Amino acid sequence: MPVSWGTIIVELVLILPVGIYLYYSMFKKIRLCEGKVCPQCQTPLKPFQHPLTRNWEQWKKGGFRCHKCHCLTDLDGKLIHPGPYPTRRIMLLSLLWMFLFYLLTIAMLVLFYLFYVKPNG
Ligand SMILES: [Zn+2]
Repeated sequence: MPVSWGTIIVELVLILPVGIYLYYSMFKKIRLCEGKVCPQCQTPLKPFQHPLTRNWEQWKKGGFRCHKCHCLTDLDGKLIHPGPYPTRRIMLLSLLWMFLFYLLTIAMLVLFYLFYVKPNG
């Protein structure tokens, strides 16, 4: 079955907001860490950090982790205490909720196609 241009355009319009959000959140994160250095070893901070290395304070308010000495800072580049980290159970539960949200989105897209677009007329 050939894919029509209308289908491609509808898919692009549905995906576009997600793409714009990801693009701008990435650039916001890069701009926030520009010119900031680690308070302990003066290494420039990098914008991206593995999610499992973030503590609760960084999940709530944001922050950076030094790639050289592994200390944690807040968004202003000030040192914060390496406080409690989210447990494995919380991380798995949030992944599960994100996956369920993803499934719900896919189901709504399928319903949209079946009842509004009507591919077979
Ligand atoms: Zn450092």
